[in-house]
Order: sequence, then C-alpha cells, then structure tokens
Amino acid sequence: MKVLKFGGTSVANAENIQKVKAIVASEKEEKNMAVVVSALGGVTDLLLKTAAQAVAQDENYKATLEHIEDRHLETIQELIPVTSQSGVISQVKQKLNQLETLYEGLFLLGEITPRTSDKIVSYGEVLSSYIIAEFFKVAGLDATLKDSRDLIKTNKHFGKALVDFKLTNTNCYFYFRSAKQKVTVLPGFVASTSEGETTTLGRGGSDYTAAIIAGATDAKVLEIWTDVSGMFTANPKVVKQAKAIAKISYEEAMELSHFGAKVLYPPTVQPVLQKQIPILIKNTFAPEEVGTLIMKDDAENGQQPVKGISNVDKIALLTLEGVGMVGIPGISKRLFEVLSQAEISVIMITQASSEHSICLGISAADAVKAEAAINTAFEYEISLNKIKPVIVEAGLSIIALVGDHMKSHQGLSGKLFSTLGKNNVNIRAIAQGASERNISAVIDEKDVNKALNVLHERFFEEQTKQLNLFVTGVGNVGEKFLQQIHQQKKFLKERLKLNVRVIALSNSRKMVFDEGGISLSNWKEALDNGEQASLDGFFKKVKSLNLRNSIFVDNTATELVAETYDKYLKNSIAVVTCNKIAAASDYKNYQYLKRLSHNYNAPFLFETNVGAGLPIIDTLKNLIASGDRIHTIKAVLSGSLNFVFNNFDTEHNFHDVVQQAKEEGYTEPDPKIDLSGVDVARKILILARESGFELDMEAIKNDPFLPQDSLDAPTVPEFFETLKTHDAHFNELYAKASAKGARLKYVASFEDGKAKVGLEEIPSDHPFYNLEGKDNIVLFYTDRYQEQPLLIKGAGAGADVTASGIFADIIRVGSN
Ligand code: ADP
Ligand code: ASP
Ligand code: MG
Repeated sequence: MKVLKFGGTSVANAENIQKVKAIVASEKEEKNMAVVVSALGGVTDLLLKTAAQAVAQDENYKATLEHIEDRHLETIQELIPVTSQSGVISQVKQKLNQLETLYEGLFLLGEITPRTSDKIVSYGEVLSSYIIAEFFKVAGLDATLKDSRDLIKTNKHFGKALVDFKLTNTNCYFYFRSAKQKVTVLPGFVASTSEGETTTLGRGGSDYTAAIIAGATDAKVLEIWTDVSGMFTANPKVVKQAKAIAKISYEEAMELSHFGAKVLYPPTVQPVLQKQIPILIKNTFAPEEVGTLIMKDDAENGQQPVKGISNVDKIALLTLEGVGMVGIPGISKRLFEVLSQAEISVIMITQASSEHSICLGISAADAVKAEAAINTAFEYEISLNKIKPVIVEAGLSIIALVGDHMKSHQGLSGKLFSTLGKNNVNIRAIAQGASERNISAVIDEKDVNKALNVLHERFFEEQTKQLNLFVTGVGNVGEKFLQQIHQQKKFLKERLKLNVRVIALSNSRKMVFDEGGISLSNWKEALDNGEQASLDGFFKKVKSLNLRNSIFVDNTATELVAETYDKYLKNSIAVVTCNKIAAASDYKNYQYLKRLSHNYNAPFLFETNVGAGLPIIDTLKNLIASGDRIHTIKAVLSGSLNFVFNNFDTEHNFHDVVQQAKEEGYTEPDPKIDLSGVDVARKILILARESGFELDMEAIKNDPFLPQDSLDAPTVPEFFETLKTHDAHFNELYAKASAKGARLKYVASFEDGKAKVGLEEIPSDHPFYNLEGKDNIVLFYTDRYQEQPLLIKGAGAGADVTASGIFADIIRVGSN
C-alpha cells in the first residue's frame, strides 16, 4: 500500500486536479492506495475569514462565502461532464447550505468556539475530497471516498487535537485491509472525537493525516505531493539559490520542519518513524523531478554537516532574570509548568550558565498570555525584587542550521556568527541542542531575508559570493567603471566566484534601484526614468533593502556625498571611493571613519585617491602590516601637473598646455585645484596618514608657483585669463631649469613627520627626470628599503585607470 497526499496548491483548481489524477493514474502496479487531499488552496483561510466577518457582524461574510461556493462549483463544472454534474452539484450545495447555517449562527451570536471553528474549517477538506473522488470515478479510476473522521480519533482539543493512536490504527488497519477499490480518497486535516464531534489536527495537518494512515497500514511509502520539488536547503521562496535536498534523515526533517520548513507539518514524521516508512516529497507540477527522500540516517544520506537552514518568524523572546534565581532549584521547572498550563509551546530555550536568567522563544501570538501567566506565577518573588517582571520582546525570528553530522564538525557556530556579524545582523539569543543537530539564533525579523541568503551562500554555495553595489556618480569615471563591470561580470563569476550586481545608480538629478540588479547594457535609460535623486533618500533605500555584502561606491568629487560615508559604515556597508575629500578632511574625521570601518567590519577603501589605479595605498598597507616602517616618501602625484610640465616648453606656452590638459580630461574640473598644489597636498596627506602619522592639511608646506592673482581668480575662465598675462613668469621658470639641464616636476615629499609640495628642478640622474606624459611615481624609503627605495610608477590619471582602481577595491572587499 502507498499513501499519497496532495496539498492545497496541488488541488487548487480543475487544471491542477487533472495533474493529480494523472499522477494517481500512473500508479499501475499499486493495488491499494490512499489519496489524502487538502482543501482547495486558500479555502481554509477563506473559511476562517468568513467566520471572523460573521462574528464581527460584518455582512460581507456573505460575499466571502459566495466566493468559496463559486470556487467549488467552477471546479466541478470544469472537471465533471455535464451529464453527471447535477448529482455532484446538489451534494455540494447541500454541504454549503449547512455551512451557511453555521455562519448565520455566528453572526447572530457574535462569537465562536474552537469546536465550531473546527466544524467550519472541516468543510474545506470535506468538499475537496468529495469532488476529487467523484472526478476520479468519472475519469475511470477505481476510486471511492472515505471520511477520515470515521478513522482518525482524537481527544477534544479542538484546533489541534491529539490522536488516539490505538483506536485510529485499528480503524485504519481494518478499513484498508478490506478496501475494495484501488484508490481511496480521504480528506486531510479532519478527525473526530469518540462522540463523533469534528476536530482538526492543526494548520498544515493534512500531511499528518497521510502519515497516520501510512503508519497504521504499514505503507511502503508516504508521498507528500506539493508545489516545490522537495525539502530545500532553505525556503526556496526566500533563497533563490536553494536546492532540493536529495536525502535527509527523519530527525533532520523533523528539526527543519519544527524550525519553519513549512513543506512538512512537524508532527508528520512521528507516525512513520518507528516503522521506518520512507517519506518522499514530490512536486505535483514537475513529477519528473526526484524530490526529497526522508529516511533513516545512513551513509547514503551524505555526511555534509549542514543539511538545511530554516526560519520561524513572528517570535517573541521572554527573559526571566533576577538575583533570586541563582542557586535556587526549580525556577525553570516552575516556569515551564506555567507555560505548559497556559498551553504555550516553547520553541527555543537558552539559559545563561550563571543561572541569572532564562530566555525562551515562543510564538509572538502567545506573548501577552505568557507575560501575564509568568508574572502571576512569580508574583511573590517579583514583589520581593528577587526576580524582575518578565521582559517580552517581539518582532523577532529564529533561524536554525540543521544537520545530523554537525556535532562532528568544529567551527560551525563560529561560521554562523561571523557570517551574520559581517553583515550587521544582530544576534539576540542563541541555542544549541545537546544533540547538536541544530544551532539556532534569534534575530530581528527585518534581517531574516539577508541572514538566510548570506548563510546559504556561506554553507551551500561557498564558491560564489554576491556583491551588491550602490553607485553614485556616473560621470567620466563612473561610466567607465560600469563599462568595466559589465565586461568583466562573467570572468568575475567564473574565476573569482564573485557575483557583482549593481543595485542602484545615482547622479545629482536622478536615482534608480533594482533589487534584481540593473541591466548594465541600458543603465542610462533606467537612470533617466528613475526618481528624483536625494542623498538621504539613497541611503535610506540602501539601508532598507538590507542586502548582504553591500558596497557604496562614490565616483563623485562632492563634499556632500563624502559626508554620508559614516552612515553607511555604521550599517556595515562598505565604502569604496575615488573622492579624496573624506580621507583628506580633518584628521578627526579621517580617524572616525577608519574606526567605524573597523568596528562595523565594513571596508573603507580609497586606493584611487592617490595615483588613480596604481596600487600605492595597498602597497603601503601591506608594508605596515608586515612590520615595516615608512621614513620618507617622495613622489610625483599629479598626472595633470606632470602632463603640463612635460608639454610646456619654448614652443608651447603655459596657458595653452593647461587648456589642453583640461580638454583631455587630465585635470580636475577646476584646474586651479591641480595647479595650486591643493590636490597633490591632499594626496601626500593621505599617504602620510596611511603610513601611520597624524597630520592635517594646514601642516603641509605649499610653495605655490602660480602668481597670486591666478590663485585668487574666482572662476575657471578668469583663471585662464590670468595665466595668459603671466607668460613671462612661466617661461622664466622653464629657462632657469633648462639652463641647469634640469626638468620641472611638481614634487610631494614626506620626511621626518613633515610634508611639503612644490615645483622642483629635477636633475637628469634623478628617477623623476624621465617621467612621461601623465605618469605618477612614488618612492618609499622604509626600514626594509633604506638605500634603494620601493618604487611604484605608471599612469596616474584618467577615467579608465581610475575606474579600474575602484574596481580593484571592490574585488578587495569581495575577498575580505
Ligand atoms: P502544501 O499546500 O502542498 O501542503 P505548503 O504551502 O504547506 O504546501 O508547503 C510548501 C511550501 O513550503 C513551499 O511552497 C515553500 O514556500 C515552503 N517552504 C518553506 N521552507 C521550505 C523548505 N526548506 N523547502 C521547501 N519548501 C519550503
Ligand atoms: N487545509 C489545512 C490548512 O490549510 C490543512 C492542510 O492544507 O494541510 O491548514
Ligand atoms: Mg502543507
């Protein structure tokens, strides 16, 4: 004998019921089958909704009831040929009339008892099983209907009744032993007391009905047919990458379902466990897929430590604490007794080893009742201040790692906590069962999606890591950056196992978000159609999306943007920027951001602040991390000034060369920032700070080579005008240097804790002499590099290399 159970979605409408029939009909070999069915998908909820409306004396209950009626009648009309319809319809109408009478009673009384509620919801399964059995018959199957209430006997605990297994097993055994038809269709979920009153087995209880029948009849298999292809490594509706688990032990399945894997109603395993009847979870809509086999634990189940991750939402945490609890036996016993008397089930328990407090996770729906019951029970101790009134916190969820073989693996909880910590998921309580089949943590409900995904990534997809980028600034650099990501996406995924997605884009006018990732082939269009940009709005959205491995990328040179970094870091969101303003702002702020980055485990990277894509800051960090000390830095750090002094000679006047540099994109939008030395000063300041020195901008000596009126020019055009009038000044600088066989270079240096920037005449034997085009060069003199400096040289300006530097920082975050 085989028992098959079809869930609500599987029997939601005529089309789906046809699929069910095809599955049942394909069982050619089987002589005896029980087919347990749920109510048509959503009908149980509708029946309860109608009841609530009627009790609230809301006339709309009639419309809801009509909707329930329509769904059943439509299903009949589509399944049963017209010639046989009338009998079926009249039977169903008769049942619906009884239901209507019950609702009228509720409307008049304005109240409902658990007994009536069970009576009402039972109609869902009673109707569905009747219609399906009739359809099976007309479709040529050798089928009959049997009311489970005749077989499954329970106590009077309406809403979630306890089964009398002795009676039930005997009833089932004898019924199926003499069953004449090949297929018996039965309603799930419903049962009855010894006096024949209808009871139910709890929401989701049709799985249990099927398991009870399987256990009683020694079935060779229990098949649970549902809307997903098995029990997954995590809820597939939340974790897109989740996969069906091929084989799993009874204990693991029980643990996963107890901790929220709704695909199996938790008590289901129990009746089949002793007889070791395998459970197969299959998909009605993809019957060819293998599904999940639940069986006894053995080598075939695989030895991987974590089998699945599940979550239970709507949890409240109760904390009972006080000095009066220490060393006093029986407090926990009393606490659990109180809860048990109040019929509140405890989902999770943790106790501090000091015995100073006990913390329990229960369903939030029970929180008010629990609080009152506990405070009453401990009234005496509370009045003496020995115990504090119970603390209740709601809005929480439990996430649990489950696996039989976790106990033989070290470091799993460490992995769990560090993964959550890195993603700014705060853990409120933890528990690990002595069996070590389960490690669970209580977290804020708002973090559940992120936590499940990030843990799934860590435990099941180890290889790939998703990086979620929030990019502001899509000018020269930003555009190139997006182009590069677009180009490298495949490579990053395949080689570096990084899945880089751009979730948001913003410029000063517009911003756009797409949680699934913005398509980089037409991002401009998406941005044009975006909403109005706002820095605060952008931040709030990033925060509320709460995605794992989030990175804020600043491609602007704007102060207001730099002022938002702290907010991101405080939310454990990494910041990657080519904007120098923050790293070169006053020392306190620089240090504050660094500290946030450290405390919140959020990288703050700005490699491109110095030498664009050249690995200057990274090299510096590696030197220091490996114990080296920086003595002196000498550098040409301005691609723009280098371009200017490399091209300016007797043939090309200074003004024209600067103009050209600006046109070719080698200068800041305001070239004065370059020519006055401010930009270079910022860079040496950043290098000095990254070398471990406390320095501020004012301490940097800056001997400007520009005449005063150029420095004072209020606008860019006026600045260029002043340059024209000072040809003689610039030519003289040039002539003086060439007379000595030297070249002009704008040099930044840091030595003995002091920094300076200025124009220098560089002799022909100096490493700076042959610096071409817009190249940068940095010499580090350190403990290890005393005589011959460590030298880094290469293109130090331009959108392309800057973009690639930002990219490199993103990859650094990814491999963090
Ligand atoms: P049925 O109506 O067939 O009994 P349920 O809705 O009760 O179906 O259970 C199936 C649903 O369980 C899936 O659609 C899925 O959303 C949810 N679910 C939660 N966790 C898991 C998991 N780990 N594996 C599979 N499904 C899960
Ligand atoms: N119809 C019931 C419910 O929705 C039982 C079930 O489908 O398992 O809870
Ligand atoms: Mg179910």
